[in-house]
Amino acid sequence: MTSFSSPTQQIALITGASRGIGRAIATSLADSGRFIYINYQSSEEAARTTLEAVKAAGSDGALLGFDVTDQAAAESAISKVITDKGTIDILVNNAGISDDMLMVWMRSENWHRVMDTNLTGFYNVTKPVVKTMLSKRCGRIINITSTSGQMGQAGQVNYSASKAGLIGATMALSREIAKRNITVNAVAPGFIETDMIKDLPKDQILKTVPAGRLGKPEEVAAAVTFLCSPEAGYITGQVLGINGGIC
Ligand code: NAP
Repeated sequence: MTSFSSPTQQIALITGASRGIGRAIATSLADSGRFIYINYQSSEEAARTTLEAVKAAGSDGALLGFDVTDQAAAESAISKVITDKGTIDILVNNAGISDDMLMVWMRSENWHRVMDTNLTGFYNVTKPVVKTMLSKRCGRIINITSTSGQMGQAGQVNYSASKAGLIGATMALSREIAKRNITVNAVAPGFIETDMIKDLPKDQILKTVPAGRLGKPEEVAAAVTFLCSPEAGYITGQVLGINGGIC
């Protein structure tokens, strides 16, 4: 067990929590009474729906809109949270995009947009949060990577590279800060039913999934919530696949 405060005293920040997996994580973490900061880029109305779900789960939260690719905006928003609440105990780096095409057609902007959001976004948000966790000597960081970053996926050279990079960053950062009682882990979903995969051919996808079905956002959220628990205090630097047996 760690000296982690009780869930009702914890402050969690989830990036990309307006929709999909991020919304399910926000709701699941709120279940035990944590205060939830809901980050989003542009979908303010959807983010308000997440806040309603957090309240319905018996907790409270606030919207925190900023673009994770904008370092100054991320630092300013996080600094305001720390001024208001004193700390951030849990950070879930979930905001992410895909922009799929074969490498031969991929333009520089397709590469950079995905890398800037999925990997540099991790840097922009995590750096200011780690500072406060180090001074408090406890914390939980969970990075949402992907099966695509573990296996590679044709048509996703940019996305696979960004998510593989996030796994490397998870393992390296976990080694830097483990002694300060801060765990850093990655969760790697396979195909989860959200907007991100709504245009992909479901029949073809299902042939690659041993479980024979898509995953639910709540199934990813349950793993994240476990990694935030005191019982998971000795788990760090790991990648947990939630993928119906793909890899
Ligand atoms: P989604 O439904 O498309 O939601 C994406 C979320 O990220 C939204 O809240 C969006 O905010 C936010 N976002 C995107 N760019 C942002 C930026 N620059 N700054 C701040 N927020 C930003 O996606 P999802 O399926 O829930 O995916 C969540 C995470 O899981 C991603 O990292 C994704 O790569 C990963 N993942 C998903 C799957 C899957 O099958 N769905 C599989 C493996 C990994 P707005 O609503 O404001 O645009």
